[in-house]
Amino acid sequence: MIRMPTALMACAVALGVMLPSRATSGDSLRQPRHRTSPPAGMPALAGSRDSVSVLMFASFDVARVRLSTECTWLVNGVEARERVLTIAATPDGLTVNGRHVAVCEARPAASRIIRISGADREKSIRGRVTITEERGRLKLIGHMAERDYLAATLTSEAMPSDPMEYLTALSVLQRNYLRFHRPRHLPDAEMCDNTHCQLVNLKEGWERVYIAVDRAARLDLTAAGGLPCYYSVACGGSTLTPAQIWNRSEAGYSNVACTYCRRCSRYRWTRSFKATREINAILRAAPAAPCVDDDLRINLGRAAGFNNVLSNTFERIERHGTMYVIAGRGFGHRIGLCQEGARELARHGWNAQRILAYYFPAAQLRFNGRATARASRDSR
Ligand SMILES: [Zn+2]
Ligand SMILES: [Zn+2]
Repeated sequence: MIRMPTALMACAVALGVMLPSRATSGDSLRQPRHRTSPPAGMPALAGSRDSVSVLMFASFDVARVRLSTECTWLVNGVEARERVLTIAATPDGLTVNGRHVAVCEARPAASRIIRISGADREKSIRGRVTITEERGRLKLIGHMAERDYLAATLTSEAMPSDPMEYLTALSVLQRNYLRFHRPRHLPDAEMCDNTHCQLVNLKEGWERVYIAVDRAARLDLTAAGGLPCYYSVACGGSTLTPAQIWNRSEAGYSNVACTYCRRCSRYRWTRSFKATREINAILRAAPAAPCVDDDLRINLGRAAGFNNVLSNTFERIERHGTMYVIAGRGFGHRIGLCQEGARELARHGWNAQRILAYYFPAAQLRFNGRATARASRDSR
């Protein structure tokens, strides 16, 4: 928690001053449910340097899924005639279109996208899927080339209209995230498909994301002992560091002043919600606003909805009758690259190198293996 008068905080944030912090809960995102015992006879699931294994539908209990693609399937190496596979858990294994199997390894007979429907949602990947049953539920592991994984993480976080240089900068960070954090889900997989790791959903018709992934492959963003990789939707005036928010120092992060996200509706925000007994208790124990406190974001978000608690930075918390009104700045944890700011800079002609150099002034940037010039904060 950081507490200081509003004016001082605004000044400190605008100037990019390092703010002190106490311990917070670290990675705040919901841990996915995943099971740990690898079934007998399963192939090794950890990916190689060139491939990534991903626990799919990691936050959901799924007993039945539907796999579809635009060609026939190979199921456990045998060509199946169907283009749609319905896979269900049974007490002693699986059924694939009604046929009983112990393990299902499904891959399209040709290079096609796989659509996976389950838990009232659909996700797409390019690669293959292995499915096993555990305790009456399905465990799905997607296996994909690193390039396809990075394309899927990029379409999960970006918009079709985003400028190429912004997509390229974002892809550098997503690749760093994979390489810095893998493996997180052994023995099942290296990564999961939700925000605990990185969202994975390859949206179709976005061939330009592959161009961005390939351009990003020529850029390296490194720091001593680390790979800068975090980004959030809007910084609200200045970025923060892992040490400030998660009480965990990581190399390559700085407090960077950014007003390029100021046209975003989350630059400053106000929300109101009903005062409940649970919310009253949380706010009684909370520091007085203005403050920066990730524990408060998590606890209040769980009670009042994360659509009402957009960031860890609270400028005002007031009670009006039966309602609370809270005002804050930024959207997300505010660490690393500011997505709204980076988009705006790309629209103004900044390339990916310059954008990354701006948000990570303490990191080293190399293009095609050569060190690049640093971005000046005044060079826009
Ligand atoms: Zn994960
Ligand atoms: Zn910003």
